[in-house]
Amino acid sequence: MTDGDVVLKADGLVKHYPIKAGILRRTVGQVKAVDGVSFELRRGETLGIVGESGCGKSTLGRLLMRLEEPTAGTVEFDGVDMYAARGAAMRRLRRDIQIVFQDPYTSLNPRKTVGDIIGEPFEIHPDAIPKGDRRRRVQELLDLVGLNPEHIHRYPHQFSGGQRQRIGIARGVALNPKVLICDEPVSALDVSVQAQVVNLLERLQDELGLAYVFIAHDLSVVRHISDRVGVMYLGTLAEIGDEDQIYSRPTHPYTQALLSAVPVPDPTLRHSRAQIKLTGDVPSPANPPSGCRFHTRCFKAEDTCSVDVPLLVSRPDGVGSHDSACHFAAPFSVVGAEAHSA
Ligand code: ADP
Ligand code: MG
Repeated sequence: MTDGDVVLKADGLVKHYPIKAGILRRTVGQVKAVDGVSFELRRGETLGIVGESGCGKSTLGRLLMRLEEPTAGTVEFDGVDMYAARGAAMRRLRRDIQIVFQDPYTSLNPRKTVGDIIGEPFEIHPDAIPKGDRRRRVQELLDLVGLNPEHIHRYPHQFSGGQRQRIGIARGVALNPKVLICDEPVSALDVSVQAQVVNLLERLQDELGLAYVFIAHDLSVVRHISDRVGVMYLGTLAEIGDEDQIYSRPTHPYTQALLSAVPVPDPTLRHSRAQIKLTGDVPSPANPPSGCRFHTRCFKAEDTCSVDVPLLVSRPDGVGSHDSACHFAAPFSVVGAEAHSA
């Protein structure tokens, strides 16, 4: 693996939102939405990002597109510092990194036709494609995502949820980006439709050579599509590794707990499957626990965990090793996890 394989690189990303109170709107605290996240995304791969609601996934997604400025840290795209980029370099970045949002019902303007919505990127980047070719290009995009090109004049409400998400995806790939940030793209859809949209994303990845950051709150959703998976907890990465390392040999107690909550379809396996109950609620990101952020809910926690911050470093997983932020990282046999993937 050479550096040339890395398309997007996050280093020490932090985003704190001030909490304002009183009539003077004084800052009384900080929501630590993202609090030190580093990873690399390789060309053409899918990195799944998983974690409970509120752990900072969407904030991370926005930082990766420079929809927000970070409190600290950097993002490099193709070796270019994204937050320092200006002018032509920034416009280039805006083309090469696109996003698909969670909710296909609110992310599409109801007063615009599908043609206008998918063609929007061409208005923002007028030199991407000559004006006279845009309509044909939009029809190609409709066809590419499995929609009828003749429906170019219809409005979002005339489509189903799954079809709307296809429209959002068509808009996302219109400028031939290198990276697509998918922020829970199937979470709002019926389970029966989710797989179709995931299959579409996989096909587009093959055809267009896209790299995905695929955000989800559920480990079972990202397994199929991800080459690697990062598990987030309260603004930080608890564990990150190849798909099989995370699902078959997780070493972080949080990942293990999340995996044990994934339903096993085969009832005969249910009893043999270790169950780890996550106790308590997710603590507030305005006041994360000291030491290891997970220690207040962890079945393995010892005294040191409330004091020492565990680093996200390579730790043995029983077969090889991968990055885990736990003082007591250890492989744990998730019985049934293999069967579940079949
Ligand atoms: P997720 O996508 O994992 O559910 P988010 O990134 O949306 O998490 O939010 C992480 C935390 O940051 C939450 O506590 C949320 O309330 C807070 N947050 C997100 N965006 C803002 C914002 N613009 N201003 C203040 N707080 C925010
Ligand atoms: Mg979110």
